[in-house]
Amino acid sequence: MESEILKVHNALIAKNISCADLIADKISAIRNSSNNTANFILDDVALEMALAVDSKIKNDEEIGFLEGVPFGLKDVYLLQGCNASGSSKFLKDYISPYTATAIKKLMDAGAIPVVKENCDCFGHGSTSENTFFGPVKNALDENLVAGGSSGGSAVNVAKGFTAFSIGGDTGGSIRQPAAFNKVYGLKPTYGRISRFGIMAYASSTDCVGPIAKSLEDIRIITNAMSGKDIHDSTTTDSIPIPESIFCDKIADNEFCLGYYKSFFANENIDQGIKQNFEGMISKIRKKGITVKELEFFDTNILVSTYYVLAMAETASNLARLDGTTYGERILGEGIKDDRAISRSENFTEETKRRIVGGTQVLSHGYSHGIYTKARFLLREIQRKFQSDFSEVNLVISPVTPNPTPRMGESLKDPLLMYLSDAYTVGFSLGGLPTLTCPFGQGVQVTADKNNEALVLKFAHFLKSII
Ligand code: GLN
Repeated sequence: MESEILKVHNALIAKNISCADLIADKISAIRNSSNNTANFILDDVALEMALAVDSKIKNDEEIGFLEGVPFGLKDVYLLQGCNASGSSKFLKDYISPYTATAIKKLMDAGAIPVVKENCDCFGHGSTSENTFFGPVKNALDENLVAGGSSGGSAVNVAKGFTAFSIGGDTGGSIRQPAAFNKVYGLKPTYGRISRFGIMAYASSTDCVGPIAKSLEDIRIITNAMSGKDIHDSTTTDSIPIPESIFCDKIADNEFCLGYYKSFFANENIDQGIKQNFEGMISKIRKKGITVKELEFFDTNILVSTYYVLAMAETASNLARLDGTTYGERILGEGIKDDRAISRSENFTEETKRRIVGGTQVLSHGYSHGIYTKARFLLREIQRKFQSDFSEVNLVISPVTPNPTPRMGESLKDPLLMYLSDAYTVGFSLGGLPTLTCPFGQGVQVTADKNNEALVLKFAHFLKSII
């Protein structure tokens, strides 16, 4: 079974490397790289944890699977006593008062956080260029963007700087950078993993999820982070994903697939991506698996519904950043002025665009025509998913309509950047589990809620036939 976690575990127990040396190697690789993936390096926390692991190994005590395994976390997660900036100027000096539940669970299992990863500011973006810390560069070609918003996390995994990383996905931010850097990335079912301690972007679609080099690692990390949390009322209990899903036996009719015709109606789709996807469908059909063509909403409707809701929620969530409650305060002539100057000087253009857009769709005279309509469409989209999953048990699609953009390109046209999220945002609105597999230009595999096991099982099968 391929697994970076297992590799590290075996090397540690065989005493091929000490945990302190392993952590020091990873940290120095991150520091010396030109990809710009790190906002803050967690030397002190990491070294202290590594020494504790080394002393257990020295005393021949048993260590757990995740003990001593280095991981990265997107810089939107709180880790007590450490910086958490959301890649913003506003919070560049903010220190977390507590630790996010998902991160705490990993650390309780012994995994070692080594880096707070560069990303689009507050999750706003698809390229990891909207950041106070400078753009992240793609792991495979530094002239290309890393994808976003969890760009630093995907690059760290692809480069081997972390054994796995924890991204955040509101409308595609784990899945799209995973595709651009050729690694796996899972957006789990909404509510499977607690959002407590992650900076809120759009609370009704924000998800915590893993980015890793193998399906086994995705399984282990998802299980470790899942579960009901009293601090997040949207969380639910879930059944752990069993290792047995990776057996090669597949029952007749175990997979019944669908894909959305409307995803290909858009004339802007890259022909290479389209052909690649069609080729994959025919390989799947050759294995005797049914693949149905399904009707779905136009991708422009998905993108507009998502952006209306996401902007409305982020305008509301970011109201707390005023230089008084949170963030750097810039003094003007009185409290109103302080607030206005602090916000206009500290937010990026992209974030301001979203706050203004979100405030507009929520304001009197507009909310009925725009926000209420988006809520209506959201319910229609969710209803359509429900009916599709009574007909098929998996939906597959490409991750993006276009190949990875070059650095700087997307900054010129924000609308075009929003449209590049055409294939990821719908599954976020559905709250569904969706995995990016690094095959070809990236394939997304989606199932009905709480069916992560089926998603991973199919991905394992797909890997074997591609
Ligand atoms: N690119 C999308 C956006 O900017 C998704 C971001 C995310 O999932 N955080 O909203």
